[in-house]
Amino acid sequence: MKLFTIGPTEMYETTKLIREKGVPYFRNQSFSNLMLETDAMLKRCMKTAPSSETIYLTASGTAAMEAAVDNLIRKTDRVLIVEGGGFGKRFVEICDRKGIQRDVLHLEQDECLTADHFVPFRDQAYKAVLINLHETSTGQLYDIGLLKKFCEGKETLLIVDAISTFLCDPFSMDDNGIDAVIISSQKGLCVTPGMSMVVLNHRTVTEYLKKPEEMECYYHCFADYITNMKRGQTPFTPAVGICYEIHDMLKYIEAQGLEVRLEEVREKAETFRREVKLDGIQFPAFPASNAITTVIFDRPVAKKIEAALIEEYGFVINPCGGDVAETRFRVSHVGAITVQDTVELARGIQKLYLRYQ
Ligand SMILES: *Cc1c(COP(=O)(O)O)cnc(C)c1O
Repeated sequence: MKLFTIGPTEMYETTKLIREKGVPYFRNQSFSNLMLETDAMLKRCMKTAPSSETIYLTASGTAAMEAAVDNLIRKTDRVLIVEGGGFGKRFVEICDRKGIQRDVLHLEQDECLTADHFVPFRDQAYKAVLINLHETSTGQLYDIGLLKKFCEGKETLLIVDAISTFLCDPFSMDDNGIDAVIISSQKGLCVTPGMSMVVLNHRTVTEYLKKPEEMECYYHCFADYITNMKRGQTPFTPAVGICYEIHDMLKYIEAQGLEVRLEEVREKAETFRREVKLDGIQFPAFPASNAITTVIFDRPVAKKIEAALIEEYGFVINPCGGDVAETRFRVSHVGAITVQDTVELARGIQKLYLRYQ
């Protein structure tokens, strides 16, 4: 089997070796050193100052989305959510569950986010804007410049779920005025699912973060995580093995060079898009992340092709949900897959498309 999926992705050999070593004990200096080194590397890759703080949660990305809301938004606050697919909808559901007032910037299927969409919301005093910078369910990569412009000069926190764009597309936290970034282990980092991270800039920590006594949730109180991280520890037992995998992956990326890593992903994305082209096979018109390509067929063959790809090639792709499940699927370009693998996948898709008339 070869995973052309994002979350989990096809794992690198170096990660598999770490997994084989088993899980060491962690309340000691050696683990603290590992975490502090990880944290420095993570901030460099995210292009944020050392004064930012990272919260290492043992939970999948959705918990980090919820925890960011819990720790930064109060019941009396109003937020704006960009909802252009399944993950945007998740932010809406999280806020609704907590009774937080929210406005929704809704995008229709295949609609591209533009500056005009923000006009109706311009004069509201929002505490935060919540966005999934790469809406993984559709493949749209939003223009971070639009968000930066909307929040600039206001007391509005820019909270970005960058789970499927970090380490896949160029990304800079500080240059874009992002106050909080949410990521998770199984996407661009390509390691085992189970850890997610929230990075907060200094201003957010000092001016907006809730104190422990203000928190209803005990387990995800960021202030406790920040205090513990000063000595390279987490308040509770983390997924220790995944911490080692993350450390190893960041070292690998730094040795390779972040730009080289991003270029690899870009090359696979571009190769796939070029090679899979055929009458009856298209992509959405909006800007796409290099992490995945959404493939649109002119007839309901997506499920059949998906099944045959597994059966005949051992290739696993990401299905699409909802109304488009029969006509679309998504292919990931992240992880230990080569350009050659990508070409073979494109050929396979074309062949199967022609078979299923
Ligand atoms: C994968 C993903 C998540 C997190 O999903 P989990 O299943 O909870 O890890 C959140 N947001 C985006 C944009 C994602 O791609």
